[in-house]
Amino acid sequence: MRAVLSIGSNLDDRRSLLQTVVDEFRAETVAASPVFSTPPWGVEDQDEFLNAVLIVDVDTSPLDLLRRGQGLEEAADRVRVRRWGPRTLDVDIVQVIRDGEEICSDDPELTLPHPHAHERAFVLVPWLAADPDAVLRGTPVAELVAGLDAGDVAAVREVPEG
Ligand code: AMP
Repeated sequence: MRAVLSIGSNLDDRRSLLQTVVDEFRAETVAASPVFSTPPWGVEDQDEFLNAVLIVDVDTSPLDLLRRGQGLEEAADRVRVRRWGPRTLDVDIVQVIRDGEEICSDDPELTLPHPHAHERAFVLVPWLAADPDAVLRGTPVAELVAGLDAGDVAAVREVPEG
């Protein structure tokens, strides 16, 4: 199955934390976005986030993939001080495609597609960079991005490498 992962970090050494996810999935990665810097969402008095999207082909189930992501979050010593507050590493599954079909699930443990993906510039902008032909629930991601607040989209900026 193919999965779209959204990864983010706004605490500690953010780039190295994102790199742990990139390294974990290196052999299974079919596309990756550059790293983007994004203003915090929900709670504003915190550092900027770094975000990226990885597209991976994995043999496991969606739940096993979720657990792999959670293992990386735990390894990063994820600190959850408050909702939408600072976190060392966040790994979300945005979408899973199996046999050409987008998997839909309302299981609270793994809701697919991710229920907020379609409205978040920090997910959609990197996703579009990784896959210009991406489609979410029948709508091209390019179209979803075009429908977002232009200021929110402009705030998601590609970070130069290094
Ligand atoms: P958060 O702290 O906001 O990253 O939420 C983590 C919780 O969301 C975990 O308990 C997951 O089981 C649950 N969850 C539900 N759907 C998803 C998804 N598509 N990707 C990642 N976590 C999810």
